[in-house]
Amino acid sequence: MKIYNTLTRKKEEFVPIKKGEVSIYVCGPTVYNFFHIGNARPFVVFDTLRKYMEYRGNRVKFVQNFTDVDDKIINKAKEEGITAPEVSEKYIEEYYKDAAALNVRKADVHPKVSEHIQDIVRFVETLVEKGYAYEADGDVYFSTRKFPEYGKLSKQNIDDLESGARIAVGEVKQDPLDFALWKARKTDDEIAWESPWGMGRPGWHIECSAMSKKHLGETIDIHAGGQDLQFPHHENEIAQSECCNGAPFAHYWMHNGYITIDNEKMSKSKGNFFTVRDILKEYDGEVIRFFLLSGHYRNPINFSDALMEQAKNSLGRMENCKENLIYLMKAGAEGPMTSAEEEQLAAYDKYRQEFIKVMDDDLNTADAISAVFELVTVANTAVKDGATKEFAQKSLETLMEFADVLGLLQGKADEAIDPEIQKLVDERQEARKAKNFARADEIRDLLKEKGITLKDTPQGVQIIKE
Ligand SMILES: [Zn+2]
Repeated sequence: MKIYNTLTRKKEEFVPIKKGEVSIYVCGPTVYNFFHIGNARPFVVFDTLRKYMEYRGNRVKFVQNFTDVDDKIINKAKEEGITAPEVSEKYIEEYYKDAAALNVRKADVHPKVSEHIQDIVRFVETLVEKGYAYEADGDVYFSTRKFPEYGKLSKQNIDDLESGARIAVGEVKQDPLDFALWKARKTDDEIAWESPWGMGRPGWHIECSAMSKKHLGETIDIHAGGQDLQFPHHENEIAQSECCNGAPFAHYWMHNGYITIDNEKMSKSKGNFFTVRDILKEYDGEVIRFFLLSGHYRNPINFSDALMEQAKNSLGRMENCKENLIYLMKAGAEGPMTSAEEEQLAAYDKYRQEFIKVMDDDLNTADAISAVFELVTVANTAVKDGATKEFAQKSLETLMEFADVLGLLQGKADEAIDPEIQKLVDERQEARKAKNFARADEIRDLLKEKGITLKDTPQGVQIIKE
């Protein structure tokens, strides 16, 4: 597989540190709000990378953090009159719901800053001991100039950066380029932990260095995140990690492109700021996922109603194909496949090779989706003409082989449904089992009022949202 490595600005052959094993660290959300469509892109893209790596036979260890200590969380807590941990716990739960709706699998580890303070303190101590960091009034800063390779990821010259850097009010750093590893507590009500430098909390960048080391080791295969994190976040992570460990931090750096809204930059002030939770009111999570994978991850992607409708229709074609094949597996002709079907199966192999070829080319999900549609077209023609059960089954297997990698066609019943609705669906199942059909019908009507239709399929109850 070839991966575009931001560090070298080249597509490179991917060679893992340990054959058959891949370590991936993705910068996760700051949990003070629902995540927006721009945040969703790295979650979906790198979840697909993980699934593809697994499909190709690798064992993947996937870590994505939660930034649960941050000014934004502290401010939100003050606004709402609750504690910072209450804010972050709430939005971690909301993250899981929305991520599940997008078929984003949970990471192997979702480390939280608040649970890694000791690791972070030790990391900062090492940097101080080695002379890369210094304490000033309870803050600890990284001496950026001591890392000569600073700027290697974002391809910036340290002197140019110096001229643009400023020392903010309240900061006591020696050089404007230096950045905080540890921040002293300013007020008594601020969340803080004990440290060799007094009560305080970690700066933002240090958490990823410390948590990546703890869960994946000093050097990892792939570090990924949104393009906006390249500088300063990832640049600072590299500086901290490589100075602390004396080893390369990540061999490959992957960054996804921006999302624009109706061709404009997304911003709260323009009012074109969409959370996934809001979009889920109008579109199925899989439609959002399909949309996010319909372009190459490094290119910018434009979010608009027209494109979402297009994604919905395209995904609908794939869904129909799946449903037709499931139907044909029961209603199709008995007996061996026809020779024409055998030939079509051979064509599936061609699509598989194409699927792998384009995914191997820096995770080109856009072209991978095209390969899936070639299969859909062939399968649909066969379905129209009537096909054997065996052909339907083989077609479905191939379709799902691709769909599983892309995280599509995973069945609406698996989606993160409102727990209340799920409870009703379960209760209806129980009522049916107990032959209490009056209650079952009552629940069905109740769900209908909420815009939920239930379809009983051989695979279980399908929950269809209007
Ligand atoms: Zn990070």
